[in-house]
Amino acid sequence: MYEVFVTRKIPEEGLKILEKECKVAVFPMERIPTKAEIIEGARDKEGLLCLLTDTIDAEVMDACPKLRAISTYSAGVNHIDVAHATKKGIIVTNAPSALTETTADLAFGLLLAIARRIPEGDRLMRRREFTGWSPTLLLGTDVHGSTIGIIGAGRIGTAVARRAKGFGMEILYSSRKPNREIEEMGGIKLEVDELVREADFVTLHVPLTPETYHLIDERRIRMMKKTAYLINTARGQCVDEKALVKCLKEGVIAGAALDVYEFEPAVTEELYEMENVVLLPHIGSATTRTRTNMAVMAATQLLKALKGETPEQIVNPEVLEKKS
Ligand code: NAP
Repeated sequence: MYEVFVTRKIPEEGLKILEKECKVAVFPMERIPTKAEIIEGARDKEGLLCLLTDTIDAEVMDACPKLRAISTYSAGVNHIDVAHATKKGIIVTNAPSALTETTADLAFGLLLAIARRIPEGDRLMRRREFTGWSPTLLLGTDVHGSTIGIIGAGRIGTAVARRAKGFGMEILYSSRKPNREIEEMGGIKLEVDELVREADFVTLHVPLTPETYHLIDERRIRMMKKTAYLINTARGQCVDEKALVKCLKEGVIAGAALDVYEFEPAVTEELYEMENVVLLPHIGSATTRTRTNMAVMAATQLLKALKGETPEQIVNPEVLEKKS
């Protein structure tokens, strides 16, 4: 039996897969474990199943000498020091394909919500302020016929493009490699600076890397149209949140819809007070089916890595190349 530590209770379906072949210890609390608690739980384990809220850095890996595989219950791997894992021969896997369509749905939901002022309308109703149809009540922005600018044309970016096409939007995208599927939909590839100037909705779908940290900074926000919206379902640190707040206050752009925050779970206080901002608590992948699929995928990948098989979702294949 392999010994594994799971940093939070995940859906049963994933745990059951592990329990067939592993001795599984699950962090018992309904909160994010501290680094010390992760180390304590994983110290003598071969496998670690972690969440995006866990920092798995060199200190954690060095404190767990038996660790051979880390599987994250997320698409992003920015919370794991993958370079250090590779150096130590530890396999890292993620669960990206399980959540692509679900996260794209939420990104598009945010786009619709901010464009058509849906949360504002809901708040107005709950204040019991609806006094009847009005020609000027909560005028928003048309989604159809507008231009979406997708930064990061990978799995989720492409899925968002399909939704945008269905809504009759013009599509611009920015990626280092051309994306044939988006181009077949009529999408045009632009540099990020050009894209932010042209788009009515700028939506982020890049991983967080040193290159994408503050990809949307004050300079780029100021390049956006005064009528444009920023949507972020990627990672909070891809946007300079302080600059965003400053620009929203000055009316540099029309609004923002956010699922992720630079200092998560903290949110820049002023954002709570802004009517032209939609805030969600990092729920991009939060549907029952997808969270179950993610648990199954994360567990399966961990098990494969421990058994010496090649996990399909390996993030650092160099580890296996070195071994063979
Ligand atoms: P993916 O398939 O790897 O796509 C990311 C794309 O970003 C790649 O196609 C890459 O293309 C592009 N990219 C990387 N660096 C770039 C740069 N500097 N400038 C422009 N494009 C760049 O990943 P995914 O599955 O779509 O997920 C994207 C991210 O979404 C994840 O990493 C995660 O952080 C986030 N996410 C959030 C939630 C949520 O709950 N809100 C849920 C799922 C995922 P090139 O290599 O061609 O540039």
